[in-house]
Parts: sequence; structure tokens; C-alpha cells
Amino acid sequence: AKNDVTHEGLCFYSEDMESSFILRRQRYIQLKSAITDQNIVVLFQPIVNASSGQLEAVEALVRIQGEDGDLIPPIEFIALAEETRLIIPLGERVIQLALAQLQQWNISGLKLRMCINVSPIQFLDPHFVPFLLKTIDQYNVYPKMIELEVTESMMLQNLEQVTHDMAQLRELGISISIDDFGTGFSCLSYLKDLPVDVLKIDKSFVAQLSIEQPDEILVKTIATLANSIGLKSVAEGVESILQAQRLKELDVSFLQGYYFSRPVPAHEIKSRYPI
Ligand code: C2E
Ligand code: MG
Ligand code: MG
Ligand code: MG
Repeated sequence: AKNDVTHEGLCFYSEDMESSFILRRQRYIQLKSAITDQNIVVLFQPIVNASSGQLEAVEALVRIQGEDGDLIPPIEFIALAEETRLIIPLGERVIQLALAQLQQWNISGLKLRMCINVSPIQFLDPHFVPFLLKTIDQYNVYPKMIELEVTESMMLQNLEQVTHDMAQLRELGISISIDDFGTGFSCLSYLKDLPVDVLKIDKSFVAQLSIEQPDEILVKTIATLANSIGLKSVAEGVESILQAQRLKELDVSFLQGYYFSRPVPAHEIKSRYPI
């Protein structure tokens, strides 16, 4: 394609624009067919109890299975899925896969909580709660074993509906965690009004617990906040034993990160943690 410059220095059309449009279009088609052709894969990352070291939960993390068998990470498609609302059928597929797996583990005696990421668009969709409840029923799993990870940005959107839905979920025993806590712009007052159970300390704060001189003010503050209002905390992005030890000393409840395990297929969870 050629560049169409219709006025001095003013570019209405460029190869860059064309290629990014085509790329977006390709990604959209790829995502859409991955959902209909069931090429959505969920990996699971262990979350361990900081004091006992026991595996207690896993986070479900979505991937698209590419034609070559490669797994495409969420950074490549979640934003597009949200903009096009494909996040709704995608999110439904993730819930089905995660709860089917939870059922399998339950049957084989592996007791794990399942943490599932939910986008604001998905949570605010009127079919979200009914779909979740239907799927819990379908796979016969305990709501108590399910934790939904939402972001602070969701609290800014439709607080009344969010409060109502969260209360309904909480009544059933489902927990709510605030993902990437501390990276948003929200005001903390929602914590006292909403039925939130867990704060997930963003990995950018955990990364600051460096080896040389631990810069732990933020992590310490969030962990103390969680403990003082009766919430649990999870540190994500734990990559070293030193970070793990420091986080434990700071009374963080749960640890998650490459130090323990990368996200892995379900069978690896089972084989690594035999009962
Ligand atoms: P998140 O929910 O904050 O998930 C944690 C991310 O950090 C995951 O990236 C995980 O692989 C990565 N991670 C875990 N431990 C470490 C570590 O020690 N070091 C580093 N550098 N990274 C670590 P992933 O799987 O690429 O997912 C990225 C984001 O995509 C997630 O961030 C979440 O916001 C979104 N996402 C993933 N799955 C879903 C889903 O099913 N639905 C929705 N709506 N969003 C999802
Ligand atoms: Mg998460
Ligand atoms: Mg997170
Ligand atoms: Mg994060």
C-alpha cells in the first residue's frame, strides 16, 4: 500500500495505520474463532500459604492455543477482547474450564481454591452472575472454593450494581479479591463498604523488595492494612527466596510467583502436589 498524504505534512493514511488495522482485524478473527473452536486454554499458577508453605489455591490464567501449538499470552488479546466485548464469551469459557478442573481435583481429593480473573465489563454484564451460578451447579463445585479477582477500576464504574452483586456472591460463599492492589486510582473507602476478602499486592511492589536494600514500605503498608481490617493478602510476582522470607515476616498471608511455580497445565499441579 502507498502513503496517501493529502495535505502538506498531514497524513490521513499510512502503511502503519493499515498494518495496525489489519493486525487488529486478524487478532479479532483469531480470538473469535479460538472461542468458537474451543482453542482457549487455562493454565494454573500455585498460591501457597506463607506460614505453612502449603499449596492452597491456584489462579486460572487464560491463553489462546495458536495454530502452531504455541500459547498466546493475555497481554496480546485481553484489551482487544474488552474493547469488542468478546471478553464475555471468553470469560465464560474460562469459568467453564476452571470449574470443570476444580471438579476434577475435588473428585481426586485435591482441595484447592480456584481464583478466576474477571474483567469489569464481564462482571457488569447482567448475565455474569446467573452464568456463574449455573456453571457452579453444572460442575457441582463448592462456591467456597471460588475466588473472583477484580480490579479497583471496577469500583469506579457502577458502585451500586457492584455492591449488590458482590453481596449476592458473598452470601453464597464466593470470595472477592482485589487484583493488582495499589496500582489503581480508587479511594480506599470502598474497602469498608464492599464485601472484599483479599488484597492481591501487585508484583511491581513485590519487585521492590530487592536483595540489596529491601524497599518494603508499600508492601508493608498494604499487608498491615489488610491485616488490620480482617482481610487476607496475597503477594504476586514472588521470584526469590529472599522476597518470600521477607513477605512472610511482613505477615502476608499467601505467596504466588515464579519462585514457587510458573503457570502450568492442570496435570502438573496434580503431579507436583501428590496427596
Ligand atoms: P494478573 O491477574 O495480575 O496475573 C498475574 C500475572 O503475573 C500472570 O501473567 C502471571 O503469569 C504473572 N506472574 C506470576 N508470577 C510472576 C512472577 O514471579 N514474575 C513475573 N514477572 N510475573 C509473574 P499472565 O498469565 O500473562 O496474565 C496477565 C494478566 O492477564 C493477568 O494479570 C490478568 O489481568 C489478565 N488475565 C489472565 N487471565 C485472565 C482471564 O481469564 N480473564 C481476564 N479477564 N483477565 C485475565
Ligand atoms: Mg489475577
Ligand atoms: Mg494480579
Ligand atoms: Mg498484575
